[in-house]
Amino acid sequence: MAMHALDTLAERVSGPVVRPGDSGYEDARHVYNAMIDAHPAAVVRCASTADVVATVRYAAETGSALAVRGGGHSVPGFGTADDAIVADLSGMQSVDVDDAARTATAGGGTTWHRFNDVTAAHGLATTGGIISTTGIGGLTLGGGIGYLSRGYGLSCDNLLAAEVVTADGSVVTASESEHEDLFWALRGGGGNFGAVTRFTYRLHPVTTVYGGPMFFELSDGAAVLKHFRDFIQTAPREYGGFPAFQIAPPLPFVPENRVGEPFVALVSCWTGPAREGERILDGFRAIARPVAEHIGEMPYAALNSAFDGLVPPGLQHYWKAAFVRELTDDAIATHMEHGPKVPTVNSTVHLYPINGAVHDIAPDATAFGHRDATFAPVIAGMWPDPADNERNTAWVRDYYAAIAPHSQPGGYVNFASADDQTRVSDNYGANYSRLQEVKRRYDPGNLFHLNQNIQP
Ligand SMILES: Cc1cc2nc3c(=O)[nH]c(=O)nc-3n(C[C@H](O)[C@H](O)[C@H](O)COP(=O)(O)OP(=O)(O)OC[C@H]3O[C@@H](n4cnc5c(N)ncnc54)[C@H](O)[C@@H]3O)c2cc1C
Repeated sequence: MAMHALDTLAERVSGPVVRPGDSGYEDARHVYNAMIDAHPAAVVRCASTADVVATVRYAAETGSALAVRGGGHSVPGFGTADDAIVADLSGMQSVDVDDAARTATAGGGTTWHRFNDVTAAHGLATTGGIISTTGIGGLTLGGGIGYLSRGYGLSCDNLLAAEVVTADGSVVTASESEHEDLFWALRGGGGNFGAVTRFTYRLHPVTTVYGGPMFFELSDGAAVLKHFRDFIQTAPREYGGFPAFQIAPPLPFVPENRVGEPFVALVSCWTGPAREGERILDGFRAIARPVAEHIGEMPYAALNSAFDGLVPPGLQHYWKAAFVRELTDDAIATHMEHGPKVPTVNSTVHLYPINGAVHDIAPDATAFGHRDATFAPVIAGMWPDPADNERNTAWVRDYYAAIAPHSQPGGYVNFASADDQTRVSDNYGANYSRLQEVKRRYDPGNLFHLNQNIQP
């Protein structure tokens, strides 16, 4: 690409345009997944909606590939690409809370860490993910599963409005009363429809929560998983948590001689009175004695960042995801075969329950696929050394193949890998054809294609 063209872009935006050879380029070209080694033509550190408009228009005019980056956590590395123009929104992290309306409006590159810290000062929160370094952007647009989703719905269910820069460079607001079709598609359809510069969310009174992790012997694993499956069907909505396969990290509450061993873990978040939460966890303790646990009261924002240290930036990532209508005994047996082979302390398998408030919303009311599921398992392979790539991706693939007969054909788009593009229509199930219609209306040329792509 001619240098003078990028000079024009640099003149049109207020944030810096980082190009190959610039001192910040090495940092700017990378995303969270270190397996991605792309060299974009330029990374525009957008500072405003106007910068995003200029970047989108520039990419459209020059026929360049456009990558939109929020928190940069996409496992396939959709926030960067060879020769692409990257609209990096990570500098757009303003969060404004309206106490009376119980809403928050946040910039398109905000991370949950920043969002939670600001809303916590108002005694409020909304559903975010489990790791606070993740962006609200990608997470919300793909759906958003977290500690509060049983109580308050997915992140996208709490979205009230979005300011969107569309493929023709227009700025539109999508909500229940404006651009309703776009608003429908944004709630689960990922980054396919435009760059969202502002998200407005409904907030809920959530301050101190009760919970934390418990580790159970693998020999008790099947019993714990079965108890969770049965308990969660009718559990109070104040309970948000999930079972996991996890290697015990070297933390003070883990007996030293058990550090580094795999366990079935239970990670809990209870938003009701602590004593009631304690009774619920006693139900698990009655099934099996935990080897280690770290349970107590803490601010919601603290639980939301409690595991950030296990997944620092710079790891290699390969993930697979499924949706499950019924977690059968056979499926649990399959998890018990593959889960204990979790290869590193960074890797994990989470079995997220999909019920409670997520099921209050009709499956076709938003684009999020598979509200009829009851679990969303994710096999998240994460490890530091590229020399282990083959071995660890094989663990994820074998595990995924083994649970496939017990799962729906599609998985959760936000947990999918680059080689899952063939599954996009399955991921959306019955909502896919309507998503294609909206895509044709707002992005017929597929400018926004670096995502789990909906074909116009
Ligand atoms: C460690 C880790 C933990 C996770 N935990 C959870 C979890 O608990 N729950 C859950 O639901 N998911 C979770 N995820 C998955 C997460 O939702 C996705 O990776 C999500 O895409 C990340 O969003 P991002 O903005 O950080 O990523 P990015 O890589 O910046 O973006 C991901 C996709 O969204 C698009 N996008 C991002 N921001 C915008 C925007 N403002 N406008 C338009 N498009 C945009 C990008 O173009 C790209 O296609 C986790 C991921 C990781 C790596």
